Parts: sequence; C-alpha cells; structure tokens
Amino acid sequence: MDITPIINKLNTGLFINGQWRDAEGGKTIDVINPATGDVITTVADGSAADAEAAIKAAGDAQADWAVTAPRDRAEILRRAFELLIERSDDIAAVMTAEMGKPFAESKGEVAYGAEFFRWFSEEAVRISGDYTLSTDGKNRLMISREPVGPCVLITPWNFPLAMGTRKIGPAIAAGCTMVFKPAKLTPLTSLMLVDVLKEAGLPDGVLNVVTSESARRVVTPWMESGIARKVTFTGSTEVGVNLLKQAADNVMKSSMELGGNAPFVVCEDADIDKAVEGAVLAKMRNGGEACTAANRLFVHSSIADEFSQKLAERIGSMKVGNGLHDGTEVGPLVDQESLDKVAALVDDAVSGGATVLTGGGKIDGPGFFFDPTVITNVPAGSEIRTTEIFGPVAPIVTFDTDEEAIALANETEYGLAGYLFSENINRALSLAEKLEVGMIGLNTGLVSNPAAPFGGVKMSGLGREGGRVGIDEYLELKYVATPRS
Ligand code: NAP
Repeated sequence: MDITPIINKLNTGLFINGQWRDAEGGKTIDVINPATGDVITTVADGSAADAEAAIKAAGDAQADWAVTAPRDRAEILRRAFELLIERSDDIAAVMTAEMGKPFAESKGEVAYGAEFFRWFSEEAVRISGDYTLSTDGKNRLMISREPVGPCVLITPWNFPLAMGTRKIGPAIAAGCTMVFKPAKLTPLTSLMLVDVLKEAGLPDGVLNVVTSESARRVVTPWMESGIARKVTFTGSTEVGVNLLKQAADNVMKSSMELGGNAPFVVCEDADIDKAVEGAVLAKMRNGGEACTAANRLFVHSSIADEFSQKLAERIGSMKVGNGLHDGTEVGPLVDQESLDKVAALVDDAVSGGATVLTGGGKIDGPGFFFDPTVITNVPAGSEIRTTEIFGPVAPIVTFDTDEEAIALANETEYGLAGYLFSENINRALSLAEKLEVGMIGLNTGLVSNPAAPFGGVKMSGLGREGGRVGIDEYLELKYVATPRS
C-alpha cells in the first residue's frame, strides 16, 4: 500500500487557536516507520514558547466554550465520529506506517476510537444535577455539574487514535478546552484527528496540539501555568507519578491510565480451546504492546502441557511482517529500544531456566521485529514476571490451587486488567472478587469497550475512561444553598 498521497496532504504543524503553524524556529522531528526504519515525514518540534501560546489559547477559549449548548457539543462529536469512519482507511494506513500494527488492527482501532466520540456525543446532553434539602429542612440545595476547565492531555504511541479520542471526547462533551501532546513516535494519527475535529466544527482554541521532541519542555509549562485545571495522562507509571507530583502544586484534578502487568489465569475446568483463543487475543493484539496485554499466564498444572502446546502452535504460526502488507498478523515493535528490551527479558528468563516453545529472539531487520514467543517453566525471580513486556511474548507459569493462582496474580504493584478462564461460574466470580485489578475478562481476552469504565487500581492509575462515569472526570460539582422561607 502506497501511503505517499495521504502523507503529502497531511498538516504536520502545531495547531493553536484554530490555526496550523510552524514551531518556533521552524524546527521539526522525524517520524519513522518501524517496519522499515525509513522516515515517513517530519512534524513540528514545539518549544516552551509554543506550549505557552497553546495553553493561553485554551484558557482564553474556556469561558465561551463552557456555556455552549450541550446539543452543539454533541453534534460536533457526532459529526467527528462520522468523519473518522469515512476516513478510516486513510487514518488506519497512516497509523500502521507510524506505529507498526497490522492494517486490519489499525482499522479496528479507528472504529474503536471513533466510538468514544459517538458515546460522548450521547453523554453531552445528559449532564444532570440534583435537587435536595438540607438535613434540617431549612435550605434548598441545587447541585450542578460544571466543566472542570482547561485540560492537559498526554497520550502514548501504542493506540495513537483511541487514547486521544478517549480523552478528547469527554472533554468536549463536558465543555472543557484542551492542550494536547501526542507521543512523538506517532503524532500523525493525532494530527489527522485534529483535521477531523476542525471540519466537524470545533471552535478555535478548544483543542490545541503541540508535538515536540521533548515532552517535558511542552508539558511542564502547561502544568505550571495555573491555567490548566486538570491533567489526563495515559502512559508509563513512572511518568504518571511525576505528573501527579507536578499536579499537586496547582491542585489539579488528575486522571492516570498507567502501566499494567495483567495475569491470565486458566483453571483446570476451562474450555482449553476457548482459553487459547482468549490468550492469543489478550497477548497478541497490538503485537503485545498494550497496557491490557496478558503479561503472565498462570495455567493449572493438570492442563498446562496441552494449553502451552496449543498456544505455541497458534502463536508460532502467526505471520510477522510490515503491517501495510496483506496477510500480516504481527507487525514490528515500535522502535529499537523496545526491541532490545523485549529480547533482554526473554534472554534473562531463558538463562534462568525457562523453556522456549516457539520464537525466542529478534528477526533480522530492517525494522524492529521480534519472533512471536511462548516460554514455559519461567522461574520465580525472572524479570519478565514483574516487568511489563510490551511485546509478543507469552510466559507460562503453572499453579495447583486457586489460592496459589490468586497469590501469583496479585504479586505485582500493577492492577489494570486480568483474565480468568473457567467454566464454573461460581468459582470464576469468586476468583474475580479476589483479583486486584480494575477490569476482568471472564472467558474472553478483550476488555476494552467505550461503554465500560476503563482503568486500574494500585500503580496502574486513578480514574476511569469511558462508560457512564467517564465524563465525571471532566466535571466538578457545584451547589447553591438557599433558604426555603
Ligand atoms: P511514556 O513514555 O510514559 O509516554 C507517554 C506520553 O508521555 C508520551 O506522550 C510521552 O512523550 C509523554 N512523556 C514522556 N515523558 C514525559 C514527561 N517527563 N512529562 C510529561 N510527559 C511525558 O509511555 P509510552 O512508552 O509512550 O507508552 C507505554 C506505556 O503506556 C505503558 O506502560 C502502557 O502500559 C501505558 N499505557 C496505559 C494505558 C492505560 O489505559 N492504562 C493505555 C495505553 C498505554 P514522548 O512521546 O515525547 O516520549
């Protein structure tokens, strides 16, 4: 697939107060195709001054935007949803070129990401309040929900569209303005999203986007501005913790979607074929580069051999290649650093005694490819059991009792997603109650859905995105008390 005609039409500058512009000094950064190592194009390398202009624009636009009719905000989101679907082939092709995932998965992400706009277009007109009496009956209390104010949005590279729409959708619905910094590895998808929103009628200044070589250079002025009232971040726990510290200085409302280390538990009464398919989905979606990816597979010892062999056959037969080529099922990792990290984790496990059933190493370049891998007998103490792998590697560990399975599953500082496979519903629900995570796939390998409250516990984050509660992250309560007499 030749994406040159699409790339040639892209706006690649900064988007501030409704206008595309160059970065200060005309600086740019390269965007690389991880399947080839080639430069796709360049985007603006925003400076601190550019960041300040962006947050000023968001601050200036807030008051007018907050009082727009909910129906008008809903219609913008609805129109943007439709445009995303209309343009899904082009957006998916660019996403694959800059991030690596197979084209079919990129199309799936456009559909998933667009759904957040449809969902929040429906939520925008249902921001309700409450009316009650004080306990002594002397006062009326009228409670409303109002936009929190300008928001700082920061997203990662692994889902370049959906991580943006999951934040922009509720912010628009609630009446908040935004400054947005997409990941420097995958800025193009976000810039296409800006075009869609502008065309859908989003007023100037409501969304301002700054790409940059240095995240800190752009985000710190936003966090210190005193204009931004909220930060919403998806990315690594390390960066999230730093942002929370910065947010404290201005007491900013904070939503954090951070790292994961998902357990995938297969009981002896599971339907093994169903569990294998669930594991393929939970492990191999996005090439394993997902916060919800099954990171540690805990399988009952009585079925471990059959499950492991079947999983190795499925994963070992997946076609690895450039995501823009027909038939590709697994693309490259996003960059050389990620490839080296995954290889080091597998090497460490194998040197500790783990057995490789399929895969096990890098594939010669160009591009950053790792062979889809299944390893068993992964010893306690291996780094792969505590680190988020972010690659196509499934490490299998056996257990004998439910207590052991839960102890192994909860033996992590993270608590985002978890997966359980058992045909005994009472047992499965009892295990689900004990898993320390925010989301559980019970006999399914997929938990993400716009109608569900996405998020984690422990070091995996604060707050939820999507579902009925998603909009609350962008609203504050206010009440008016007035005497009844
Ligand atoms: P990352 O390194 O934390 O980067 C995420 C974003 O933060 C990028 O835009 C990055 O900019 C920016 N950033 C980096 N340093 C910063 C700083 N000092 N101040 C402010 N912003 C900063 O994470 P990643 O490698 O892109 O993404 C992978 C991580 O995201 C994984 O841990 C994964 O689990 C997590 N994730 C979580 C969810 C969830 O919903 N819980 C979803 C997807 C991913 P640059 O691009 O310029 O570095």
